[in-house]
Amino acid sequence: MSTDIRTYGNYINGEWTISASGKQSASLNPANRNEVVGYLTMSEQSDVDRAVEAAVAAKKAWRKLSGAARGEYLYKAAAILERRIDEVAAMMTREMGKTLPEAKGETARGVAILKYYAGEGMRKIGDIIPSTDSEALMFTTRVPLGVVGVISPWNFPVAIPIWKMAPALIYGNTVVWKPALDTGVTAALIMECLAEAGFPAGVVNLVSGSGSVVGGRIAEHPAVDGVTFTGSNAVGKQIGQTALARGAKYQLEMGGKNPIIVAADADIDLAVDATISGGIRSTGQKCTATSRVIVEKAVYETFRDRLLAKVRGLKVGDGLQPDTWLGPCANENQWKTVLDYIEKGKAEGAELLYGGHQPEDPACQDGYYVVPAVFDKVDSKMAIAQEEIFGPVLALIQAEDLEHAIELANDVEFGLSASIYTQNIGHILAFIQDVDAGLVRINAETAGVELQAPFGGMKSSSSHSREQGQAAIEFFTAVKTVFVKA
Ligand code: NAP
Ligand code: MG
Repeated sequence: MSTDIRTYGNYINGEWTISASGKQSASLNPANRNEVVGYLTMSEQSDVDRAVEAAVAAKKAWRKLSGAARGEYLYKAAAILERRIDEVAAMMTREMGKTLPEAKGETARGVAILKYYAGEGMRKIGDIIPSTDSEALMFTTRVPLGVVGVISPWNFPVAIPIWKMAPALIYGNTVVWKPALDTGVTAALIMECLAEAGFPAGVVNLVSGSGSVVGGRIAEHPAVDGVTFTGSNAVGKQIGQTALARGAKYQLEMGGKNPIIVAADADIDLAVDATISGGIRSTGQKCTATSRVIVEKAVYETFRDRLLAKVRGLKVGDGLQPDTWLGPCANENQWKTVLDYIEKGKAEGAELLYGGHQPEDPACQDGYYVVPAVFDKVDSKMAIAQEEIFGPVLALIQAEDLEHAIELANDVEFGLSASIYTQNIGHILAFIQDVDAGLVRINAETAGVELQAPFGGMKSSSSHSREQGQAAIEFFTAVKTVFVKA
């Protein structure tokens, strides 16, 4: 592997610096825990404070620029990231384990998001509303929040921070970004692209360090006007409460427990492929991953047997190898959580049909690997059917009929994505109406997001806000209603 093991610092006020703490943390390759991919500076609260100060100082000039002028920086960043796509993708694979084609796809997505929001700088930011006073002009306009704190997870280490930072910036905010430590090197490469694009000093800052110290300080800092977070429910709730208590705006995207319904009239082979792709790609570590597979009684056994046959054929391995279908879990914690849930599922009485253990392949002994697991005879109330596992684990649940299937689909605290396979228009319409999910997918897998459309969940999956597409303007700006009379 690469011998060039660098130390990555903070990017504050246009300069790369190392925290005065002098502490570092090694970022490891989950496919081989003995491989260090880079060292990350471990910041203190004072580093966050300096970054926020820089962002505050930069905000006046940044918001004064036209949207088109701000867009030019995003176009430049897109071109630079596009040029470095192979390097960024390879680092992502080494740092968090997803396969190289997936990492490339995600990085290309990052480029597309930057371009999309660059264009957004020239689109409308308000409406004219007829006043009851016929001589007055009444309209809305939008202004930036000011300083936005971005706290992002490791599972989409390029796409998620970009889909937060690009809209924050285009609408005139300045940014302090705290990426997950597990993907801190990948984050530093993204920051390098933004730095090379030449944003004025202080407009985008990166502070590397632990969640509780750096993320915690961002959430509580009185000069941070908005906080956008993606990650676990436990942390999200805490950030939301901290932001609420000091009157800051916040946006939380959190967990999922996404169902796929396979109706009796479904094309079984397509439903099998969608279940595998949605549930096991990225090692099940997508917030939109399929984890509950709800199958109508009439086709249950046929579906189960075809699913099993295909899951048996999936190759677990290092994401850099071209024949790997799924890589390791991203870190030790995640790996242990997945293995614990497998034990829990067995203890609760579900039948483990396949997988759920470390692969025997000698090449897999130093990584956080799990053979994808398929559980049969799962009851909706079991922990493996209720709690987010974030791993390659499929829970098969039998439904009596379509109505029962939708009831089961809704029988969780989450509501991010939900999918159905059927040809019946009545079933489709009932599903669209009745399923509790922010993303409703018909004859398509639960995962799969388009950057130009709103993204977000219902119930405890989100703070009920939406990200991406033009929906992003709702969070990253404030509305002014203007009444003008001569
Ligand atoms: P996490 O532990 O909640 O971490 C998310 C981010 O918050 C990381 O940057 C983390 O930093 C930081 N953080 C941790 N503790 C904090 C604290 N006390 N105050 C402020 N920030 C803190 O989640 P994760 O383990 O990275 O990601 C997995 C989870 O994210 C899953 O539950 C998944 O469903 C969810 N997720 C949701 C979506 C969505 O859009 N709905 C997308 C992706 C992931 P460190 O990691 O450096 O400690
Ligand atoms: Mg790692």
